[in-house]
Amino acid sequence: MEERIRVTLPSGEMIKNWYNVKADLPFKLDPPLNPKTGKIITPKELSAIFCPSIIEQEATDERYIKIPEEVLREYAVFRPTPLIRASFLEEYLGTPAKIYYKYEGASPTGSHKTNTALAQAYYNARDSVEQLVTETGAGQWGSALTYAGVKFGLKVRVFMVRVSYNQKPMRKHMMKLFGGDVLESPSDETESGLRFLKDDLKHPGSLGIAISEAIETVLKSGKSKYALGSVLDHVLLHQTVIGLELKKQLKLINETPTVIIGCHGGGSNFGGTILPFVLEKLSGQEIRFLACEPESCPTLTEGEYRYDYGDSSGFTPLLKMYTLGKDFVPPKIHAGGLRYHGSAPIIAKLLEEKLIEAENFPQEETFQAARLFSKVEGIIPAPETAHAIAGVIREALKAKTMKKEEVIVFTLSGHGLLDLSAYS
Ligand SMILES: *Cc1c(COP(=O)(O)O)cnc(C)c1O
Repeated sequence: MEERIRVTLPSGEMIKNWYNVKADLPFKLDPPLNPKTGKIITPKELSAIFCPSIIEQEATDERYIKIPEEVLREYAVFRPTPLIRASFLEEYLGTPAKIYYKYEGASPTGSHKTNTALAQAYYNARDSVEQLVTETGAGQWGSALTYAGVKFGLKVRVFMVRVSYNQKPMRKHMMKLFGGDVLESPSDETESGLRFLKDDLKHPGSLGIAISEAIETVLKSGKSKYALGSVLDHVLLHQTVIGLELKKQLKLINETPTVIIGCHGGGSNFGGTILPFVLEKLSGQEIRFLACEPESCPTLTEGEYRYDYGDSSGFTPLLKMYTLGKDFVPPKIHAGGLRYHGSAPIIAKLLEEKLIEAENFPQEETFQAARLFSKVEGIIPAPETAHAIAGVIREALKAKTMKKEEVIVFTLSGHGLLDLSAYS
């Protein structure tokens, strides 16, 4: 029997720079457009909702961006996250594949979202912003941002999608514990919210609607800025800390991954994991990248590649992405963090260029995967992460049929300890 392996990193090997894949891509991304004029959006126009440091990062072509000391200090609380060999899952499946997972559930709020939340809170505080306003689906982003806000002295207001607010009250308690101000979305505090409440007082909400409410709040108040937990280039940039650590950890144990897998909501944990490996693929190394999404919100597998709004009311810049349309209201699936109509422009472009693949998974298959993983590995994954695990199981069983020694690596984006009601 193989030894169980748990890999961290020596302190000298800690990641000090984020990686910007745009510096290495052999093609250009289509720029964000102003939603009113349809012209390329200017930094000045973006400054209505984002602080200057974030705008600069969104546009930069530098290959490496130094992680500020203040952020490194916060990262040191939970990074490097461990890379763990899922040997019990391998044995259970009887697969010749090796399976490893990068455990982002080790962060203070239980998911990868703190990686970008801490960075965004730091830059906004440095740029003299007083309040950050945002939306949250399942509550992971809201809890990560309220945590980061309290660390850097910022107030945080969160519009939480109503269906999650009611199904997942634990996350709401967590945000309040960190001093956050949490509202059910659609709310009666914004015109965008009222527009949806008019038709249905118990409207389940969606991320698109909650984003509209957050941006409207920012546009109407002074020292407030907006923070987004996924999709945009700077968010994927911050998340590359995952893939960069992973690369060093795999090197320490002499492994070369053949398939890297992540679940896909807006593309940040998947992007953060695979982007540091894209250059290898471009130089001819045999490696596959697989994004896993719900059958009920099949953005990458069934969406259209075109410009679309990031929210339901058309406040955000137009982004070139795979989209199900801004008016898509996903069914009330439990994997709240994957209920988004769009995708990160970087991920969309990589899919269009066939550098990555995407598959979708029915809810039952993902719950089965989560149940099996919990039983054999002892870690209860977030329902979002369960899609990645379902993908891993499909790949491991394929390797068994074809008798192939794959090295499958996936990001376990978050634990599901606050999602147990969804499982029961
Ligand atoms: C938010 C979230 C996701 C989905 O968002 P991405 O930007 O696609 O990563 C996946 N897993 C967890 C645990 C999340 O909190």
